[in-house]
Amino acid sequence: MEAAATEALRDLLQRQRESWRADPPGYARRMDDLARLRAAFKARLDEFVRAIDADFGCRPREETLLAEGMTVLRSIDHARRHLKRWMRPQRVAPEWPCLPARCGIVARPLGVVGILAPWNYPVNLALIPLVDALAAGNHALLKPAEATPRTSELLERLIDDVFARDRVAVVQGDAEVAAAFSALPFDHLLFTGSSATGAKVMAAAAGNLTPVTLELGGKSPAIVAPGFPLKTAAARIAAGKWLNAGQTCIAPDYVLLHEDDRDGFVDCLRSEVARRHGAPGGSREYASIIDRAQYERLCAWRDEARAQGAEVIALPDDNAGDAARRILPPTLVLGATDAMRVMREEIFGPILPIATFRGIDEAIARVNARPRPLALYLFDRDPARTRRVLEACPAGGVCINDCMLQFAQSRLPFGGIGASGMGAYHGHAGFLTFSHRMAVFRQSRFSSFALMRPPYGRLAERLLRVLTR
Ligand code: NAD
Repeated sequence: MEAAATEALRDLLQRQRESWRADPPGYARRMDDLARLRAAFKARLDEFVRAIDADFGCRPREETLLAEGMTVLRSIDHARRHLKRWMRPQRVAPEWPCLPARCGIVARPLGVVGILAPWNYPVNLALIPLVDALAAGNHALLKPAEATPRTSELLERLIDDVFARDRVAVVQGDAEVAAAFSALPFDHLLFTGSSATGAKVMAAAAGNLTPVTLELGGKSPAIVAPGFPLKTAAARIAAGKWLNAGQTCIAPDYVLLHEDDRDGFVDCLRSEVARRHGAPGGSREYASIIDRAQYERLCAWRDEARAQGAEVIALPDDNAGDAARRILPPTLVLGATDAMRVMREEIFGPILPIATFRGIDEAIARVNARPRPLALYLFDRDPARTRRVLEACPAGGVCINDCMLQFAQSRLPFGGIGASGMGAYHGHAGFLTFSHRMAVFRQSRFSSFALMRPPYGRLAERLLRVLTR
């Protein structure tokens, strides 16, 4: 990137930092910021629906309202409802030898934070981190995705309408700009995207000792335990997998189920997809793949699986999709092996490998043979077995007997573990991510530690004996 452009980014950050130092937002300003952001976003919701639809080629209105509209509005409402309590200093007991001193923890804003968002939910993944950063009293620079240009431009207009640029500003640009952005000396950086880019972001941030929250991806398994009703599991996995045509970080990436259940489960998926997307003449209620490169990658992985002996089933009824509109139908892969790319890498599209096990231990071993997932889905009504799977399989988050709804809970932290990310946000977790928990020790008029100064007498000696017991 040109030196002048990098310099302009640094200037913008510096201006935000100066204005934050001069006047860091208190409770009233934060509440007002969130209220104005809410009103402006709500007023533009239909524009966002249209912009995302145009950026994707096709993105059903209902999916956008649910996954971007509802999630953002609810996260603002949740923050506004709880902010006073989150900001309240917390009293904690001092160590008894320090009595009668007092201790407390005060949540302080960090300063200026950076947010890097991807294209798959371009509004939700930009604005929810921003809501959390504003609730915590920060200024923010936001770099939305270049793959959704109309939506990113609309985001910029929204933010410019609500905030002065020395408080919150949007920066546009490609991967090169994103790389320069991640090298800015922010007080905190939240990145959402792939694990490979996450590693680059972390390396760039390390140069400034900027702390990072990394919201990454990976292969999230869905385990269907023996005895769980297959029709219910199929309906819920289908809804989670084919929302946004599988372009979701927490989409079930592959299914693991008992070998005796496989054919029944495939039949249930067939009828489920026919019911949901089997409209005559094709369904408008199914998203396009974001761009040609992603579409071709997915086709290549599907074709490789077929060439290496897997059975590939496009739903419903051998649906061929629509290459011109980048519509790739729900596609099952049976008999996939770990040598195939669909089982080696995160799919991030509508292809669903279905693998089998003979006992739950085999399922646990298969999950744990891979990097830790962002989400783990378990369909099981047996409490003991559920506990066992949860203890054995660490994951960013878990959803039992359904898919994706762990994301939509404002009271649950959202974040990965290991290769699927570090740190968390949403609700109070997000407020804490963008705050510093400042420790405050307040000495009383009388200090018990005054007895602990030289020259040490017999009283100090006796006290030390007690303290080192
Ligand atoms: P990506 O990592 O390719 O790109 C994400 C963003 O990073 C892009 O908008 C780009 O501008 C920026 N970028 C590119 N190079 C960069 C660099 N060197 N330094 C800094 N930024 C750079 O990811 P993607 O293809 O846009 O998104 C798909 C991935 O994101 C999947 O792995 C998915 O699981 C993950 N994801 C995770 C979450 C989550 O919340 N954990 C949500 C959505 C997507």
